[in-house]
Amino acid sequence: RATLAALAGAASLALTLSACGQKSEVSSEVSTVGIAMPTRASERWLTDGKSLVDDLNGKKYKTKLVYGEDDPKTQVSQIENLIKQGVDALIIAAIDAKSLNGVLQQAADADIPVISYDRLILGTKNVDYYVSFDNEMVGRLQARHIIAKLGLDDGKGPFNIELFAGSPDDNNTKYFFQGSMALLQPFLDSKQLVVPSGETKLDQITTLRWDGPTAQKRMSGILTKWYAGEEVDAVLSPYDGISRGVLSALTSDGYGSDSKPLPVITGQDAELESVKSIIAGQQSQTVYKDVRRLAGAAAEMVDDILDGRQPWIDNEGDYNNGVKVVPAVLLQPAGVDKSNYEVLVVDDYFTEDELK
Ligand code: BGC
Repeated sequence: RATLAALAGAASLALTLSACGQKSEVSSEVSTVGIAMPTRASERWLTDGKSLVDDLNGKKYKTKLVYGEDDPKTQVSQIENLIKQGVDALIIAAIDAKSLNGVLQQAADADIPVISYDRLILGTKNVDYYVSFDNEMVGRLQARHIIAKLGLDDGKGPFNIELFAGSPDDNNTKYFFQGSMALLQPFLDSKQLVVPSGETKLDQITTLRWDGPTAQKRMSGILTKWYAGEEVDAVLSPYDGISRGVLSALTSDGYGSDSKPLPVITGQDAELESVKSIIAGQQSQTVYKDVRRLAGAAAEMVDDILDGRQPWIDNEGDYNNGVKVVPAVLLQPAGVDKSNYEVLVVDDYFTEDELK
């Protein structure tokens, strides 16, 4: 399926080449890839979108990039539009994992391959591949940081901890949480870790749409209700935006002084503001996922599919979306704290100046 614009693009390219006296080998069709990202409100998704566009353009694809502004209905209608516009493939980071059933049937009817990007789309057979990071490892890295900072392996404690999780409609949320709890649960059992609020079940600790102010509100409420005469020593946070919300609640409550130090606070995504906060000794950790590599993997996959090659897969079993096992490529995340944040500069994720 070529859009008119794509055909015009191919025609003008062919014309340019023949004007140069070269033999034209340009196929009659320039394919267009539709990219649906969840939100502009968080830095990482801007990098994802830009990298996907750059990588696909570099492979001579056209792209149409849309952001759903964290509203599932908006995302559905954006994808509907991309299908109507005749895109040849779709790369989708879902806002609500379960809301895309209908629109992906439309994609299947139009023979459009679908790549589930970062977040697994659930409950439909019409998703072809999944590219993401090892999501359970993300949670483990956060837990490992807490364990090391508090000295839990050396038998120290008891310490007070509060737990935060991501959006309930994001399939990654449960993987992050499971990964963390796999390592933290033994210390809860041994009472080296205590959760004064008592909120330890996933459905008690989720944060709709990963919203920082929502987390801030929950943290403030917990401090008021459960921490008279107590101090919080660690906060498991799954995402930098949530960590910053938690930090605001803590500083408003007087944390951050010599007599009342900030707790250990984890995060995810290595967002600039949070990396600066880590360097300043506030947030203590984040999980660095080089989303430029994720975008690269998705672009390779699309290229393989559209050229009729079998995409390379490294995980055949772990990601079942309720209807099928979705073949996946999983990249490795890395823990970043004050001791090793320079890796972000080495990787050119940020410049030294940006971190100042
Ligand atoms: C992503 C995280 C991100 C979160 C909030 C998750 O699905 O995997 O990298 O922090 O969404 O945007």
